[in-house]
Amino acid sequence: MNNRRSFLSKALLSLPVLSSVPLFGQKKQVRKPIVISTWDSGIPVNEAAFEVLKHKDGRALDAVEQGARHIENQINCCVGLGGNPDRDGYVTLDASIMDDKMNCGAVAFLEDIKNPISVARKVMETTPHVFLVGEGARAFALKNGFKAEPKELSKEAEKAYKKWLKKSEYKPVKNIELEQNKALKNGPFAPNRFEDGSFNHDTMGLVALDQAGNLSGACTTSGMGFKLRGRVGDSPIIGAGLYVDNEVGAVTSSGQGEEVIRIAGSHLVVEFMRQGKAPEEACRLAIERLVKINPEKARDFQVGFIALNKYGEYGSYAVNPGFVFSVTTEPGNGKVIETPSYFK
Ligand code: ASP
Repeated sequence: MNNRRSFLSKALLSLPVLSSVPLFGQKKQVRKPIVISTWDSGIPVNEAAFEVLKHKDGRALDAVEQGARHIENQINCCVGLGGNPDRDGYVTLDASIMDDKMNCGAVAFLEDIKNPISVARKVMETTPHVFLVGEGARAFALKNGFKAEPKELSKEAEKAYKKWLKKSEYKPVKNIELEQNKALKNGPFAPNRFEDGSFNHDTMGLVALDQAGNLSGACTTSGMGFKLRGRVGDSPIIGAGLYVDNEVGAVTSSGQGEEVIRIAGSHLVVEFMRQGKAPEEACRLAIERLVKINPEKARDFQVGFIALNKYGEYGSYAVNPGFVFSVTTEPGNGKVIETPSYFK
């Protein structure tokens, strides 16, 4: 905890202070540009986002799309077509995007398309709708120039699926024990894979504030591994896995989607920030709301929120230990931060 605090204060000191804006009735200095993302796999994602954010007129919307595409393109990673399949052996993808003007777009249960985040953006920008799913989403993607990719599992996903088939039990991994063991060796970094090569999470959520002071967010996932065919999690649901209000802040989540949907999680965190709560406190209040529903059950799942407000202040809170997030305020200098949690 002390390490985290001292890191945080150092990180804040090194942030460029570029301007000040009135918010919640106060005038405060704004630290921008900045991008934060779920997990330690967010570091290269943030770098990709910074390719946009480093330009004076780079839009947060383009930055979060580029960040999400970066991880979707890693075929051996946990997010996108390389992720774990559903219990019938198919990878199905969910994604959402939201800009600074309350525009939003999402796709769910999308198959064989590499960049669901860009399909979500197309839905947002070229249709009168917000959300397309399944066959309709796929047909829309193909019609808009996206290519159908071969229906093959990545090597790691295939290995994990074969192992899963032996017991065929749906038991989402809480992501804790192994991470803690490794964290002891490697510092506060949660590894992206378990020792057997399988993944410990499936979602990349990122939110950014650009030099013009505008917020946007993106969330992309292959969903919980070995889910029922047709299951959709929180990530593509606006207000659950992602929410952006340009007057207040931007929030995204990772973890067991059903629990996030139940409390309209990301929207709830934004509303707590609107009431004047700092990002970490806002995330904590939402996590407490979630734990209160069933405290015993909550010991067995993971949910983490990350939040960025209009001032460029950020924070995170999780149900259980093991969640980390990545913060980048200048290219090549991203930091992974351990998230405080309800259960210790
Ligand atoms: N939130 C995602 C879902 O429920 C999974 C994850 O974050 O790992 O689909």
